[in-house]
Amino acid sequence: MGKSFDAVIVGAGFAGLYMLHRLRGLGMTARVFEAGADVGGTWYWNRYPGARCDIESMQYSFSFSEELQQEWEWTERFAPQPEILRYARHVADRFGLRSDIAFNTRVTGAAFDDGRWTVRTDRGGEASARFCIMATGCLSAGRLPDIEGIDRFAGRSYHTGAWPHEGVDFTGQRVGVIGTGSSAIQSIPVIAEQAARLFVFQRTPNFSVPARNAPLAPDYAGSWKSDYAERRRRARTLRSGIIYDFGETSALAVPAEAREREYAARWERGGINLLSAYTDLLTSKEANDTAAEFVRARIRSIVRDPATAALLAPTSHPIGTKRICVDTGYFETFNRENVALVDLQAAPIEAVTPGGLRTRDAEYALDALVFATGFDAMTGSLLRMDITGRGGRTLADKWQAGPRTYLGLMTAGFPNLFTVTGPGSPSVLSNMIVSIEQHVDWIADCLAYLRSHGIAKIEASPAAEDAWVEHVNAAAELTLYPQANSWYLGANIPGKPRVFMPYIGGVGVYRETCDDIAARGYAGFDLTLRPRLRERSAAE
Ligand SMILES: Cc1cc2nc3c(=O)[nH]c(=O)nc-3n(C[C@H](O)[C@H](O)[C@H](O)COP(=O)(O)OP(=O)(O)OC[C@H]3O[C@@H](n4cnc5c(N)ncnc54)[C@H](O)[C@@H]3O)c2cc1C
Repeated sequence: MGKSFDAVIVGAGFAGLYMLHRLRGLGMTARVFEAGADVGGTWYWNRYPGARCDIESMQYSFSFSEELQQEWEWTERFAPQPEILRYARHVADRFGLRSDIAFNTRVTGAAFDDGRWTVRTDRGGEASARFCIMATGCLSAGRLPDIEGIDRFAGRSYHTGAWPHEGVDFTGQRVGVIGTGSSAIQSIPVIAEQAARLFVFQRTPNFSVPARNAPLAPDYAGSWKSDYAERRRRARTLRSGIIYDFGETSALAVPAEAREREYAARWERGGINLLSAYTDLLTSKEANDTAAEFVRARIRSIVRDPATAALLAPTSHPIGTKRICVDTGYFETFNRENVALVDLQAAPIEAVTPGGLRTRDAEYALDALVFATGFDAMTGSLLRMDITGRGGRTLADKWQAGPRTYLGLMTAGFPNLFTVTGPGSPSVLSNMIVSIEQHVDWIADCLAYLRSHGIAKIEASPAAEDAWVEHVNAAAELTLYPQANSWYLGANIPGKPRVFMPYIGGVGVYRETCDDIAARGYAGFDLTLRPRLRERSAAE
């Protein structure tokens, strides 16, 4: 039998780090297991060239410590991956967290029995804990496409989500990038500068807006720091947890020229701000079309070859219903002599060959292949573990038809198991650090409540879970989101049930709901008293 703790936390990204900090504050013992060799999660693994946050640095950071947010200095408007990783390391060191983290240790399974979770790892070890907290990340289970011959490629191949730490030099090489999601859109301009020849294999074009990244102006950073508490408070009340410049009218309520001017000004400022111009861009197709057409026109004006521009201009989904990308010179890259766009809708990939890649129409000789093919989002990292709840039921079995949770925090049949930013919570539709802090605080407060009330077990009730799942689905249907074949719906994974996984109600509304449920004694959760207290209350 391994060691015994109050809680086991799986994952040492931002969620795991803050969870550990909060548990220590409660005087609880905890062990964190992390598959990587260091903290940072996403920012530890995704070291591809051009990797960068698409939320402004002043907002994509922890708010729980005033000293931390005052002392840390971001250098760019949108922080690059190495800087965010440095920040995560700083947090771990500043709060002395490393001593409770087991690195290079992957959790393979967790089983609930007799009121405790037993957690198994790939190092053959075990740990036992009353609570098990999954801080495994929404986008941490990398996915390779199912292409014939993928293992036979004689050159070097890379997944953007598991990039070599020493970096990759593509100088003089013929490189193929498969995928045109966010990681591809960030890395392609940088790879194009090195490679002798770059082929971009595109199935579905994505909307992207320019970042206009720049060194962070000291007076801008200063204005945030002098008002951090109030700005953070405001961010927590918003739909995405991000402060933008929010328009207050429908896109259809203003004349076309005024709308064009508004979009153009936001395009010049850079960032996802474009989608905050009007109130109905994600609920009215007609309104959405005005923004989508604006971006398509920009693509046509940037990309010199009209046929390439047409292929790059997305038409298959409303803008914003797939994660919108933020780039630095993406569309401009297709004006380079050494870059070619390959349309996989016209000629799908048939096989990876030892010498490159074959589509239905052509052979491409390649020295390196980059898979920017994303993640088995939201459920992947959870279902890759063998999680067994009450009565021996596995999570894989329970979620066969798609994830079912109460608030994205717990799932019925799995007592004392929490998921940070789990499916059914705003998570990937928000500034993730805002959502992580909210979930971690809620869980920590919940554990404190259980302790002070002599409660041994907490579990989502099936009825509350059913109602929440229904609400999450109904909320999604009120928007344009379900119209896109996105990873929000699991559409990138063959055979994955088609369920809209994140909660679209917004982080502000969601926080109020969670707080209200806690204030009502954890309504919708079944609470079991510790045995001695149970006997006493039965006798009374
Ligand atoms: C390329 C990329 C760009 C992103 N950009 C943004 C952005 O601009 N804004 C934003 O808000 N969000 C962004 N995200 C989302 C990002 O994941 C979150 O912002 C945040 O970093 C998540 O933190 P986390 O701790 O919840 O999960 P993660 O950072 O994913 O950490 C989870 C950790 O759990 C570990 N783990 C998983 N399974 C196991 C296991 N079985 N055993 C042991 N360890 C395990 C993993 O190794 C990982 O280190 C981006 C994600 C990616 C992939």
